Amino acid sequence: TNLLDIQNLTVKVGDKQILNGLTLQMKPGEVHAIMGPNGAGKSTLASTLAGREDYEVTGGSVAFNGEDLLELGAHERAAAGVFLGFQYPVEIPGVSNLNFLRTALNSQRKIRGESEVSAAEFMKIVKEKAAGLKMDMDMLKRFVNVGFSGGEKKRNEMVQMAVLNPTLAILDETDSGLDIDALRIVSEGINAQRRDDTAILLITHYQRLLDYVRPDVIHVMAKGKIVRSGGPSLARELEERGYADVA
Ligand code: ADP
Ligand code: MG
Ligand code: MG
Repeated sequence: TNLLDIQNLTVKVGDKQILNGLTLQMKPGEVHAIMGPNGAGKSTLASTLAGREDYEVTGGSVAFNGEDLLELGAHERAAAGVFLGFQYPVEIPGVSNLNFLRTALNSQRKIRGESEVSAAEFMKIVKEKAAGLKMDMDMLKRFVNVGFSGGEKKRNEMVQMAVLNPTLAILDETDSGLDIDALRIVSEGINAQRRDDTAILLITHYQRLLDYVRPDVIHVMAKGKIVRSGGPSLARELEERGYADVA
């Protein structure tokens, strides 16, 4: 059965129709990549799945774990296990990474009807995840992303993802503008989250990330819909021939 089942999704932003009948299905354990030219609607898809305001679904359906995702608000979707990574991670002066994470985790648990994690339990989770991603605990005591390098922000995002432990991670161009070391960090974070019961949707412009994270399926998106899907070899074909010829 599908973890994510998007059928014929149409979405408007303002007066503009941006998604035009997008269909996409993901099974648990799968990693899918969405590639495609600028303006294809990739970020619109990510924002729509995360439940951001201003994205008006005008048709189609999205089932997540068999439930209607579109019925849920953004916080409820996060609590249900949907994580959206950022192309440009936000800085939050005055809030430490640890506080930010504990608040996010507890707010999700509350929505799920679970009890808060104790301070000790929380630190145990964070230390384990930080160690796995080689994140210095001192960095986690600092304000969220303030003064972090591009690579450190990405490592931090991977720690956030690991602690929140989503069932569906959507990463929108999280690899853009990264040097090779930062790309490895992101890849390690993604691969650590790759399990039999999770799915990962990678939105990327580049083949590079896919050398480190091997997707099961690659989709090409253009003009608001999926125009072609295939195996990993499709990424090479796209790189050699460009979107216009392939899609
Ligand atoms: P991609 O991520 O594939 O580059 P986007 O989803 O960002 O594509 O954008 C798809 C189209 O929607 C583009 O034409 C873009 O200009 C338009 N668009 C995106 N966000 C908005 C918005 N907030 N208001 C109006 N148009 C938007
Ligand atoms: Mg873009
Ligand atoms: Mg985009």
